[in-house]
Amino acid sequence: MLRGVTHHITATREDGTVFEVSYGYGARQRRLLACLHCDWEEQITYGGTRHKGLDHLAQAHGAVGNPTMTADARARRQVLWTMAICFLISAVILWWATSRT
Ligand SMILES: [Zn+2]
Repeated sequence: MLRGVTHHITATREDGTVFEVSYGYGARQRRLLACLHCDWEEQITYGGTRHKGLDHLAQAHGAVGNPTMTADARARRQVLWTMAICFLISAVILWWATSRT
């Protein structure tokens, strides 16, 4: 289990699903990579963190990430948030419309 998450590594599958691996500190300040979508965890001893995360996302989930583009992941998450908010608003309107019978 991760306690202090410091980084996120994301990769996107062909259908647009975003997968994420968190990087941070586990028990006794061990540095760990942990997948948010399965039980995969790996202790990091020396370097290659980003590659190990992306390797896992590619092999286990078929998602491809770009190791050099961190800002892109944030922008993508922002788009996802906007979509989620739009969806919520339309859901509320739909609920409001159908509950007025
Ligand atoms: Zn995984």
